[in-house]
Amino acid sequence: MEKEDIRQNIERVLKGIKEAGAHAPVKADVKLLLATKTVNTEDIAYAVNECGVRYIGENRVPELLEKYEELKKLPCSIHFIGTLQKNKVKYICDKVDCIHSVDSLPLALEIDKRCGAIGRVMDVYAEVNIGREESKGGVDPDLLLEFADSLTKLKNIRLSGVMTMAPRCESDAEYEKYFTKTYRLYIDFCKKISFNRDVIPELSMGMSNSYEAAVRCGSTLVRVGSAVFGERAKQ
Ligand SMILES: *Cc1c(COP(=O)(O)O)cnc(C)c1O
Repeated sequence: MEKEDIRQNIERVLKGIKEAGAHAPVKADVKLLLATKTVNTEDIAYAVNECGVRYIGENRVPELLEKYEELKKLPCSIHFIGTLQKNKVKYICDKVDCIHSVDSLPLALEIDKRCGAIGRVMDVYAEVNIGREESKGGVDPDLLLEFADSLTKLKNIRLSGVMTMAPRCESDAEYEKYFTKTYRLYIDFCKKISFNRDVIPELSMGMSNSYEAAVRCGSTLVRVGSAVFGERAKQ
């Protein structure tokens, strides 16, 4: 992908977010996170340094480690957005600013322990499997609030949002059903969990083919990859 295409794609996505935001349930400052799996660090640096992107998300630990020396030089937050195995937590807890995919207490306990050992607090989002798909991570929607509540007891974790990966849909209307359901859960989450005043909970939902629908339904952070960097080769 040419640099100029990356720039234009980012501008188009930002415009789409802004237009969709006019129809959101509440006015929000929606964050654009670029999902950078398979993207080389030069293109990522261009998006950050030349196009003003402030959030990037990697979703595989080995790839994050490979790219980290370059990524850490960039003025952006690095989030971890993919499925995370407990035994890989130790490699990333000093490298990322936020983990979106926390969906079990054992995983949360491991993050808490590893972060405690290095004297830091990790921002985490509780992931909900809104379509109850076998193939996806996330807790059952009925268990989200109880799960989230258990995370608040851990000292080295700062629960700061909800994340979801919607099932693949054929239309915006279909996406909006899942996103509206997630937004309602997020509202209950915001009411039930007592947040410090310095935490504004995020709702991380929406990807390349669904970010506008997600923003219309109340997303505060979209994770966009291929709409900016082009289609990935099948992994
Ligand atoms: C790859 C990925 C995305 C972005 O997907 P696109 O369809 O390329 O926008 C978002 N979230 C997660 C967790 C991902 O792994």
